[in-house]
Amino acid sequence: AKSLGRNAICFFDPQLQSALLERRTLEHDMRSGLQTGQFELFYQPQVEMGRVIGAEALLRWKHPQKGHVPPAQFIPLAEETGFILPLGDWVLQAACHQLARWANHPRFGQLVLSVNVSPRQFHQSGFVDQVLKALAEHGADAHRLKLELTEGMLVADVDDTIAKMARLKSYGIGFSLDDFGTGYSSLAYLKRLPLDQLKIDRSFVRDVLTDPNDAAIARTIVALAKSLGLHVIAEGVETQAQCRFLEGVRCYAWQGYLMSPPLPVLEFERLVTNGNVP
Ligand code: C2E
Ligand code: CA
Ligand code: CA
Ligand code: CA
Repeated sequence: AKSLGRNAICFFDPQLQSALLERRTLEHDMRSGLQTGQFELFYQPQVEMGRVIGAEALLRWKHPQKGHVPPAQFIPLAEETGFILPLGDWVLQAACHQLARWANHPRFGQLVLSVNVSPRQFHQSGFVDQVLKALAEHGADAHRLKLELTEGMLVADVDDTIAKMARLKSYGIGFSLDDFGTGYSSLAYLKRLPLDQLKIDRSFVRDVLTDPNDAAIARTIVALAKSLGLHVIAEGVETQAQCRFLEGVRCYAWQGYLMSPPLPVLEFERLVTNGNVP
């Protein structure tokens, strides 16, 4: 205890102590929440040329006392504690279950579902088998599943990353690079990864009309995607003007509040059936 020195005093800081307690409570609640069905996937439509082409699955937690807890509050904690492993597996299972339900439907059967994968989940040794198992158990088509990875997680062990992606890709699973441009972009490794799509981050889309730097970044990402033979999608599109800007730089796929926030599955299905795309 002596070696802890000054920091040991901090441990008894009442504010820090209550923060620690809060975290431990949240972690405990996550575990029981997963067992009692408090988690749900919402679906945000992704559109291209006036048509819903797919959705991004976004995790929602309805806490019995706290109400709706946003992912930004529990995903990082789950990532730290390792709870993201069972939670991420649940997400894959739920996504594959949904894909299987949509499979033979004339309209929903065409949709591609994008699923967020956390770094720790991706880097666990059994990740590839976990994904294949989820698809097989639910009878879902691998071609309808897209995994969203973030740049940071791909630079860690490039060879292992490529091997994993290549194996999954051989079954027809697609890959989108999420939050592109916000991390350490190394264009050298980008070329080596078997990606299908780059996603223009919401932080660039937001001010695309007022900040020339963001406009340049958006334009550059589209050009980069094109030169690498990748698709591109923009996230966080909230206005018609942003949408028109993106079309102007030849980015035709997007998601955002302009179309719809993430929705419970029934509402999402209703929107796909009746929705007018802006
Ligand atoms: P993300 O993957 O970048 O997801 C996009 C976030 O932007 C979502 O927040 C979405 O609701 C929000 N969004 C979409 N359109 C708009 C818009 O037009 N305007 C604004 N202001 N926001 C928009 P959400 O659902 O709160 O998720 C936050 C983050 O939590 C996600 O960021 C992702 O990193 C993580 N996350 C969510 N679900 C999962 C999951 O199943 N697994 C993992 N590993 N992470 C998840
Ligand atoms: Ca995402
Ligand atoms: Ca994103
Ligand atoms: Ca983001």
